[in-house]
Amino acid sequence: MTAPSNAAVGRKPVVTLRNALFVLAGLTLVAFPLLRPGDQYHQTVLILIFVLGVMSTGWNVIAGFTGYVSLGQSAFLGIGAYTVGLLVHKVHVSPFLLAPLGGIAAAVIAALLGSTIMRTREHAYVIITIAFLFLMQAIGLNAPAFTGGSDGITLPLPPWPLDIGNMPFYYSLLALMLLSTWMTWWIRRTKFGMGLVAIREDEDKAAAIGVRTSVYKVLATVASGVLIGVAGGIYAYFLTFIDPRGMFDILVSVQIVLATLLGGLGTIWGPVLGAFLVVPMNEVTNDVVAAQGVHLFVFGLVLMAVVMFLPRGLIPTLRGWIESRRGGEVAFERRQAVARVVELTAPPATAGRFGPRASESGRPLLQVDGLVKRFGGLTAVDGCSFAVAEGSLTGLIGPNGSGKTTVFNLVSGMMRANEGRVLLDGERIDGLQPWDRAYRGLGRTFQSTRLFPKLTVMENVVAPLKRFQWDLLPADAVSGREAKRALELLDFVGLADFGPQPAWQLSFGQKKLVELAQLLMLEPRLILLDEPAGGINPGLIERISDTIRALNKQGLTFVIVEHNMPMVLELCDTMLVMARGSVIAEGSPDDIQSNPLVLDAYLGEDWNREAVDEEASA
Ligand code: ADP
Ligand code: MG
Repeated sequence: MTAPSNAAVGRKPVVTLRNALFVLAGLTLVAFPLLRPGDQYHQTVLILIFVLGVMSTGWNVIAGFTGYVSLGQSAFLGIGAYTVGLLVHKVHVSPFLLAPLGGIAAAVIAALLGSTIMRTREHAYVIITIAFLFLMQAIGLNAPAFTGGSDGITLPLPPWPLDIGNMPFYYSLLALMLLSTWMTWWIRRTKFGMGLVAIREDEDKAAAIGVRTSVYKVLATVASGVLIGVAGGIYAYFLTFIDPRGMFDILVSVQIVLATLLGGLGTIWGPVLGAFLVVPMNEVTNDVVAAQGVHLFVFGLVLMAVVMFLPRGLIPTLRGWIESRRGGEVAFERRQAVARVVELTAPPATAGRFGPRASESGRPLLQVDGLVKRFGGLTAVDGCSFAVAEGSLTGLIGPNGSGKTTVFNLVSGMMRANEGRVLLDGERIDGLQPWDRAYRGLGRTFQSTRLFPKLTVMENVVAPLKRFQWDLLPADAVSGREAKRALELLDFVGLADFGPQPAWQLSFGQKKLVELAQLLMLEPRLILLDEPAGGINPGLIERISDTIRALNKQGLTFVIVEHNMPMVLELCDTMLVMARGSVIAEGSPDDIQSNPLVLDAYLGEDWNREAVDEEASA
């Protein structure tokens, strides 16, 4: 597949079938209670759909964007409901006015939850969120003086005339569902949202390029819960009775998951579409078979069917189908993101502002001092010490398993050392989080490239953050100066035309180049490259060497782990040789090739330097 040219990026007409359908659906929902005022049953079904819609769109932020699957999401509904149910008997105002407090309560508890589960991932996260839900239920059941216990709480009846019926609930919850959907749309296009997707795709990588993942995850939990809390307050008033079992129900969480997966996890409208399918399904099974537990069975079956036959959900499947009929066009959102950028961008200038110019002083920019890293009984890094001069191109070579990648992990903060120190420009960084190291000018690539596969090349390159700033979070993900800079950098690595493509479509070598451009967005002073030439074709190797050399001329310091000896020996001015976890030799490329220790540990006795020299000069 070739990259679509920027000129082909068209403007989308405002009147499309899709938009017309949206407007029609919206008008129908708004008009329904007015046209059928007596139809309480269908109004109630729609109210339940809106409540589930608020919950599944909220859940989408944490599960769809951030990749953290929570099964405790329905707790926020209960928290909002109880906030209003408890307050309404103390302050005698309309529960509608109290509902925002339900949102605040949900947000506060979400922040607490978010900060306690910051260090858990995957299965542990799922289990902790279930525990959280049951904890809430237990509090509701076991603090009768405060919550009314299992007897529940009764709320006042609505004071308005009977012929108005459920309309206030209907319209407020409809508005809330639309607000929640708008919120997810907005989040997805901000730097915050892009950071969340980066966390979903590869959390360690996100941290390495300056995404302060802890803050992002807490904020995502808050965003996912806050509107559910508001909805819970209104829902409690609608029900006029709440109890812990009904309000902190894991089945509701299951419905949230089902609705979102069915409609399309991570899409904007998928969770809403899912709510429109799951609630009626629930009603039908309740009507047709009144037996207890049958809807459980149906949910289970549908969930299994969705996972097996519609793993991406309805909206992505439909979109894929339409796009394949149109002949493999790039998804519209992607083209749109790039269209904005291209309009803003002047012809790319050549790169030329990375860090300070190379100082000839040769003072150490990076110092590694007595590092030790043990994995169980294996000591992968064993008293490793070396210094990297500012402005140098330092090669780090050694046999497989000698600890090179682990040293990179210790320097960049992916792992913590058991012993030893790491200093960047004279300051200790070994206690810092990966993003704080990135803010100080440290960048690294990974042995196997780690771009965010579902983000576009352009989004990948603008994702890095040079510092953490609250006011940057709501900024557009791809726009302005950074987008221009990203395009320059892509041009610099020769891939300017690939901006709109999803990163997974690139070849391995192209990914390495994009990863380099991505790092350069950080404006680092020191870059650690882990096997930049591994597994790519010779033509690209040359381009990578040229790129590294050009960047070094502009002042960037490099440490390069590489097995391609002709390449490193020709490129680097200093060589470090590792064996069994520590540096056994250091010197110029010439020196180490005649060092018996190096020949013994790595290059081999029959190492032929002339052949390498010839190959390098050929
Ligand atoms: P190199 O990059 O020089 O090939 P590594 O740093 O990847 O070497 O690995 C050094 C040693 O540490 C190897 O024996 C490897 O199996 C081991 N190792 C690396 N990472 C881990 C890990 N996360 N858990 C356990 N052992 C590891
Ligand atoms: Mg390695």
